Amino acid sequence: MSQLENIMRPHMAKIATYHGVDPSAELARDAGIKPEDVIRLNANENPYGAYDKVSEALTTLDLHLYPDTQQRKLRAALGEYTGQPVERIIAGAGGDEIIDLLMRLFVERGQSVIDCEPTFGMYGFSARLADAEIVSVPRNSTWEINIPAMLEAIDDQARIVFLASPNNPTGNLLTESDARSLLETGIVVCVDETYYEFAQISLSHLLEEYENLVILRSFSKWAGIAGLRVGYAIASETLIRHLMDIKQPYNINVAGEAAVLAALKYRDELLKRAASLIVQRKRLEEAIDGLDGISYYPSEGNFLLCRFEHRTAEEAYVALAKHGIFVRRFPQSVLVDSLRISAGTSEQTDRLIDALRIVA
Ligand SMILES: *Cc1c(COP(=O)(O)O)cnc(C)c1O
Repeated sequence: MSQLENIMRPHMAKIATYHGVDPSAELARDAGIKPEDVIRLNANENPYGAYDKVSEALTTLDLHLYPDTQQRKLRAALGEYTGQPVERIIAGAGGDEIIDLLMRLFVERGQSVIDCEPTFGMYGFSARLADAEIVSVPRNSTWEINIPAMLEAIDDQARIVFLASPNNPTGNLLTESDARSLLETGIVVCVDETYYEFAQISLSHLLEEYENLVILRSFSKWAGIAGLRVGYAIASETLIRHLMDIKQPYNINVAGEAAVLAALKYRDELLKRAASLIVQRKRLEEAIDGLDGISYYPSEGNFLLCRFEHRTAEEAYVALAKHGIFVRRFPQSVLVDSLRISAGTSEQTDRLIDALRIVA
């Protein structure tokens, strides 16, 4: 160990790198194919790219000026979109920043954060950064959460429960009655609705009843601006006021702000694209229904968790990569035979289905 590592905060020094998705050029090199042949179905990104009007909005910005620390225009637009008062909304540099801010606000060293594996990796990552214990309560075989086990895990050291709905990577929703059971304990319950625009189902109406509820959303997936990093939270006024107080003052950059304003202005077009991705996901489901050796779990998101019966997920991953198709594999043992495949364009879906016929 280097001298420097000896004086680092021990829990920080041992944090494992978060492995996000690699750039297309790297994927192509590793698979020995041309970069233009890469089909990225590994990060639930929007395969249509950014919407033209959104890109245009970025060409006339005052890049020399700091963004608004109070996010006035952004919060007003989000308020109009969500039907919520601006006092209940905060924007973050991706949903990821909101997760981190919640840790900073609520979680002290040694306290615990609860999630339900398999799920999004950032909850555990951010909890480890906070030197908190991450308690992962396993989901059952159809990926529903186990309420009795969760209620047992919620002791006086537990601070936040994170539940994605639809859950990534399993695709299923959190039920209102399960959410209520957890909210009744008084612990902070963050319902991550990053895939809301695909599922069209929200628990945001519960905000009227519970000041410990946080609804998390993002522009990364449906709005096609993952690269600009904007997400937001809706919660009680008290909670939002404190999040606003502790955030980095200029957390949303001027490009992210302008892109979100344009995305909301042209939301009808973007929502049409989201709907067409659901059509592609359903095409994929139908194709898989006709194939031997592969099945899928029902999904409300723009992705499908697929199970391979005759080979491991790793083998299927490598075989798909040879066709230029990159999907998401997982380290968890419950997912050794599963890959998450994002919905693509119609052409990408054609190529995917052809490849699956050979690979499955
Ligand atoms: C992608 C994703 C996020 C984070 O998205 P950002 O790009 O940080 O806004 C949050 N939660 C889930 C479940 C996701 O899949």
